Amino acid sequence: MEFVDLKAQYRALKVQIDERIQRVLDHGQYIMGPEVAELEGRLAAFTGAKHCITVASGTEALLISLMALGLKPGDEVITTPFTFAATAEAIVLLGGKPVFVDIEPDTCNIDAQLIEAKITRRTRAIMPVSLYGQCADMDEINATAARHGLAVIEDAAQSFGANYKGRKSCNLSTVGCTSFFPSKPLGCYGDGGAIFTTDDGFAQACREIRVHGQSARYVHTRVGVGGRMDTIQCAVVLAKLERFEWELQRRRKLGERYNALLTSSAIDLLSVRPDRDCVWGQYTVFVEKRAEVQSALFARGIPTVIHYPNPLHTQPAYAEYRTGEDDFPHSVSAGLRVMSLPISADLDEVDQHRVTQALIDASSR
Ligand SMILES: *Cc1c(COP(=O)(O)O)cnc(C)c1O
Repeated sequence: MEFVDLKAQYRALKVQIDERIQRVLDHGQYIMGPEVAELEGRLAAFTGAKHCITVASGTEALLISLMALGLKPGDEVITTPFTFAATAEAIVLLGGKPVFVDIEPDTCNIDAQLIEAKITRRTRAIMPVSLYGQCADMDEINATAARHGLAVIEDAAQSFGANYKGRKSCNLSTVGCTSFFPSKPLGCYGDGGAIFTTDDGFAQACREIRVHGQSARYVHTRVGVGGRMDTIQCAVVLAKLERFEWELQRRRKLGERYNALLTSSAIDLLSVRPDRDCVWGQYTVFVEKRAEVQSALFARGIPTVIHYPNPLHTQPAYAEYRTGEDDFPHSVSAGLRVMSLPISADLDEVDQHRVTQALIDASSR
């Protein structure tokens, strides 16, 4: 069993993917070819955001967004320590300071109620992560940000396609950033990412920063990066859009089925708030004696992954952003208990049942 079955997805889409890639090889515009604008148009329409700017990765999307906001050394950005390192990395790379706020124990998303107390004169932005495919409390976070004139950057690397109060992830705040890393809900065959916004000036800044700060060829109006997404990767995503709605439905169904199969077991499940859905970028549960459970599953041919074992404030590179000894207890506790099970649109119900049976057996020992 694969943790994310990219081979089955390729088999299902082989004709479309091969044809899309071949078209790029035929026209030869590998950088900023026509597929780039085509994909940006399709994704903007999908999310409802006015602008989509494709970039080299999800990390680059966060970095370019913070550059476009004009983040300066010493500026603070409020975010969660219970995330992949890229979230805080983008802040630190620009000389900014990540200010961590703990998560809600049942969703693992940033606790919106704790944010306002962390705002200072140096705060420039709030960067919630829509972890595991469920949007954070974006409206509460937007309201807090509005009271203090701050930008809100949604790290939607795991939640592309998720719904929140009838709106789409990536179009819920000042800016939304996603990733097309192969295992994300919408993936390419290498690195890729995108920035979404409805602010014309911000979109223009992102477009310029993506190509070394150029407003026209060899006119560098600002300092930028080489941050474009390859034409071939855009072609792959365009091909995958052909059945993306079906994949999203399938992921939601598999997530609900996992919940149903585990609900009467001793396994604690992630909560999904009633005003939003989860696209299960990861299907993650809370288990006790995790190491034993993980190796019991491994012995039965079932791969699992820990997203994430150590919150960022406990990592050497980010230890200076701790605030005290008993920092972020819910993040620490989640780090000890979370475990992600195989999920992708092509996972079949028989395999899914094998997973839940093995998990129930292993955790009742
Ligand atoms: C994957 C991920 C990123 C980074 O995306 P890349 O495309 O790998 O650079 C950032 N934040 C979160 C929450 C992610 O899961």
